[in-house]
Amino acid sequence: MRDAFGREINYLRISVTELCNLRCRYCMPADGVCKREHDEMLTEEEIVLAVQTAAELGVTKLRITGGEPLVKKNIVSICGKAAQVPGIREVCITTNGTLLPQLAVPLREAGVARLNISLDTLDAEKFRYITRLGELEQALGGIEAALAAGFEKIKLNAVLIGGFNDDEIPQLAELTRRWPVDLRFIEMMPMYDGGDFSEGSFISSDVVLQKLPELTEEPRDGGVARLYRLPGAQGRIGLISPLSAHFCGECNRIRLTADGRLKPCLHGREEFSIKGLDAAGMRAQFEKAILAKPAWHGELNYAHRSRSGRNMNRIGG
Ligand code: SAM
Ligand code: SF4
Repeated sequence: MRDAFGREINYLRISVTELCNLRCRYCMPADGVCKREHDEMLTEEEIVLAVQTAAELGVTKLRITGGEPLVKKNIVSICGKAAQVPGIREVCITTNGTLLPQLAVPLREAGVARLNISLDTLDAEKFRYITRLGELEQALGGIEAALAAGFEKIKLNAVLIGGFNDDEIPQLAELTRRWPVDLRFIEMMPMYDGGDFSEGSFISSDVVLQKLPELTEEPRDGGVARLYRLPGAQGRIGLISPLSAHFCGECNRIRLTADGRLKPCLHGREEFSIKGLDAAGMRAQFEKAILAKPAWHGELNYAHRSRSGRNMNRIGG
């Protein structure tokens, strides 16, 4: 289905949980989230019905995210059912990777096509600091497990944080030589409560081009990243620049939160609930949400924070 500005909406991002086994400082508060009542959250059946509805409206690609999607007990079943929905060509997951040693094989067998794995630093101490709870070895073990399970086109995501990991840009980029993976540097977005970082920590993705002058440009592949490659590397370097160069004109996505709200825009306040609805009710809400997509998210910087009213773990990044 097309939105009011003629953009074809064919990509649904579903957050299956707000909970996470880590507490990244730019994403969620130190004390986690209040565990909500079970009946406020979408059931597995409702998630599958939402996927069927979206597919009927032209969605072909799904991304399962969170919170941490792999802490959800029925994640393999959800992915398996979603992958079977007629019209869905690709089910992808965004994960912090820590649970992939147990889950990479079952997820691949369930039909998950691709993984994005978050990794902001290669320093064990800094990893502990940024995630508040995590161990670097677990995340690296998750990447190895995903490769061993046969996942191809894995993307590693690093949020750029000035004074924290800008000194590691070359080492992170080197991972594209070590493994057949893309490494994407993402500008840190000022979500509504800001997390632990302020404007001083924001760095533009162009810093990567200054630090890595040997990068050569690669053709875009339909995604939101500008693409480059280190000489001889197996994978590419991507720059995702929601602040310094927003990509709203190319936006093809709609989001569904774990509590059943369709969000036309990551940074918008508007939400359309599908919780408890039947197929016809869900379809009507999907149509409204797609037509409510704004032309762009409006000014987004550290003086004009996201208007989403939610932190990233409660939307689904
Ligand atoms: N837990 C999974 C993970 O970490 O990959 C999936 C959910 S997480 C919210 C999805 C992505 O959003 C991660 O790559 C994370 O780094 C990114 N993210 C979270 N908060 C962000 C922020 N304020 N700005 C930019 N990216 C952010
Ligand atoms: Fe959890 Fe992912 Fe948010 Fe980190 S970025 S706290 S791993 S949801």
